[in-house]
Amino acid sequence: MRNYAALPLLLILNCISIGEPDREPSRFPMSGHVYRSWEQVLQGSTPISEFEVLHTGEVEVPVTGMLNADRAVEFFEGKTTFVDVYAFWFCHRDYGCYLIDSGLDDSFGEGKEGNVRGLLASSYIVSSRQKPGTDILSQLATGNRKQRLKGVFFTHLHGDHTSGVPALVSEPDIGPLEFFVASGEEYINYWMLYQGDHLANVKKLSELNPNAGQNMPILGNCLDIFGDGSLWAISTPGHSGAHLSYLIRTPSGPTLLTGDASHTRVGFENGIEPGWIDNRDQARSSLLALIEFAQTYPQVRVIYGHER
Ligand SMILES: [Zn+2]
Repeated sequence: MRNYAALPLLLILNCISIGEPDREPSRFPMSGHVYRSWEQVLQGSTPISEFEVLHTGEVEVPVTGMLNADRAVEFFEGKTTFVDVYAFWFCHRDYGCYLIDSGLDDSFGEGKEGNVRGLLASSYIVSSRQKPGTDILSQLATGNRKQRLKGVFFTHLHGDHTSGVPALVSEPDIGPLEFFVASGEEYINYWMLYQGDHLANVKKLSELNPNAGQNMPILGNCLDIFGDGSLWAISTPGHSGAHLSYLIRTPSGPTLLTGDASHTRVGFENGIEPGWIDNRDQARSSLLALIEFAQTYPQVRVIYGHER
């Protein structure tokens, strides 16, 4: 006899992602130089300035989400751990200033609920903490950043990476923003289960198509966003369906932002993919490619999704 009991759950999981903005192909990548090697990319001066890691707080998460428990038994001490939540600020000489991911707003912090709610929310974010003045808007309040911000490049559309968006779009000093995500990347906003409505006031997502990129050594299809080798979107599916990592040539040197292809340092250094995955084989091969890249180019600084 077939198991019909699972049907309602399947329907729920397949039908209730809500509040999806319209999607259009991005104007990026700009056409430009065709690179044959990463050596070519990594040399010379960069048009990027002001690269800064904005540490916007910490979330308490199950360790089994960060690391595949089957392969990482020796790294498990407690059941949960606090991990950093970042947004990355940078400016490009010709295209202006952007964030990569959006950080946490001030709804997070000790004893606060945060802005992801629903029956399953506490299975992902158990609690949070945040030093006063480190929420995303406070960190954009200096250096005329609010006025200069042009948009956000997302690694993926999970709640801890989109949580700063409501604060950004409702801030009067911030102009209309453009939001970039990989083509087909799912917006995780499940009615009643895991709901933040973070993109409720976002009219449009600009989709970056990794298949339109250059086939680069080790990392495969990569998008040279500004056409000058300064910012690359790297297709690293697995944790989410169309996850992106980024390589950015900052004034202090090239930096690889793994995003949640590797949440943690211990995962990266031991080749252990995240526990939370959309596709385990893809998560593993994406992680192994990033590790090989980092080993081949040790001059590249690596910042993990939730640790540096
Ligand atoms: Zn994350």
